[in-house]
Amino acid sequence: MSEPHGLTAHEARDLLERRETTSRELTQASLDRIAAVDDKIGAFLTVATDEALAQADAADERLHRGEGGPLTGIPLAVKDNMCTRGIRTTCGSRILEEFVPPYDAHVIERLNEAGAVLLGKTNMDEFAMGSSVEHSAFHPTHNPWALDRVPGGSSGGSAAAVACGEAVVALGSDTGGSIRQPAAFCGVVGLKPTYGRVSRYGLVAFGSSLDQIGPLTKDVEDCALLLNAVAGQDLRDATSAPLDVPDFTAALTGDIAGLKIGVVSDYVPEGLDPAVRGIADSAVKQLEGLGAEVEWGVELPSTAHALACYYIIAPSEASANLARYDGVKYGYSYTEGESMWENMDKTRQFGFGDEVKRRIMLGTYALSSGYYDAYYLKALQVRTLIRREFEAALERYDLLFGLVTPTPAFALGEKTDDPYEMYLNDIFTMPANIAGLPALSLPAGFVDGPAGERLPMGVQLLAKPFDEAALLRAGHAYEQSTSWRDQRPAV
Ligand code: GLN
Repeated sequence: MSEPHGLTAHEARDLLERRETTSRELTQASLDRIAAVDDKIGAFLTVATDEALAQADAADERLHRGEGGPLTGIPLAVKDNMCTRGIRTTCGSRILEEFVPPYDAHVIERLNEAGAVLLGKTNMDEFAMGSSVEHSAFHPTHNPWALDRVPGGSSGGSAAAVACGEAVVALGSDTGGSIRQPAAFCGVVGLKPTYGRVSRYGLVAFGSSLDQIGPLTKDVEDCALLLNAVAGQDLRDATSAPLDVPDFTAALTGDIAGLKIGVVSDYVPEGLDPAVRGIADSAVKQLEGLGAEVEWGVELPSTAHALACYYIIAPSEASANLARYDGVKYGYSYTEGESMWENMDKTRQFGFGDEVKRRIMLGTYALSSGYYDAYYLKALQVRTLIRREFEAALERYDLLFGLVTPTPAFALGEKTDDPYEMYLNDIFTMPANIAGLPALSLPAGFVDGPAGERLPMGVQLLAKPFDEAALLRAGHAYEQSTSWRDQRPAV
């Protein structure tokens, strides 16, 4: 058996079933791992030790009675933008530093019903705005493969926690790439489900038409298990889809013979570093070897405008969503001012970080009268074009293929002075959010860093709306035919 902290959820489940371990042991092993390495990694903002051990004991009782399911007793971590009753939920922001939600997000209710153990809340870019966790108001997170590099973001805490075995699995959220990009940078699996597949109730809103919650895991089987637990309609989120949820583990047949996969030219563009290009080439060969019919050269011309479109829509929605932080209802409140207006101003001035303020200003501008038609409305029209192009491509192919990012993890501090450079990191991931499509990020090998570090890279598969099963099937077959998932960073 591997070290307890290296286990996947399904491996841990097997041990629990055979009574070779207990949830308390697994949970304690995770807490010990956090105590041993999180000084270096910085993946957690809150560790809920007492609550976790109590949940572990309850899970053990349930297992003892022969009850429970695949996640009963499994220790996991959740990004700090999902509300947890009684456990502080900061969203990586000063403005919510002391915020203790009076209710659980839908996904947390589901995990509680499943008997999972919540270890704590993971670090993130403030309000999920960023690609590196460097916009966290509290501290950075370090990439477990190279401590001077970013883990990706904004769900970098969750990705790093899974990669270095602090948590067995984790949840993140993805508005423009925030599950898939950190998954790629940390060498783990990350899934952004179809918009509407998972309820956003209790997820702190960033871009409401783009946000989705999804799994970060060590392998595809765990990804299917976690998606099973959290997917499905919830009437408290009007955009959650009234569809039956299949058992996603049933999709893991290993058979992808005849599956049609189109390689999107823009997501494996000319001019890449040859080592990065090699990652895409060998993944394609691997998929072909498994019997998939892969065709290069899928053109999605409107994708070229996806970045501009995203950086109007996401900040516009954010500027509306973040108007609620006024120091009156909850969160940080400045009270020394002469007037209510001054208090509100200062609450926001001191409570929000620079990137959040930049987004609020961009969004407010794009929505203001006189500019609304030129920016916001235009972006919505481009969004329709992007969506239609995907629809047409996905009539010809079962799946689309590309890289997750154009480079491996960059150094801490490398892009913090240049927001545009930071934004460019999501160029291959945000189109899926704009079109609402499901997309899976899979570990696909390593490239050498300048100091000889091994830096993970990921490839991405996209599917038709609500066809997560196809993604997981292909991802699983690919993963089983490579050894990437067995490689773990030496922290
Ligand atoms: N990096 C992108 C941004 O800064 C996407 C973030 C996300 O998916 N939450 O907006």
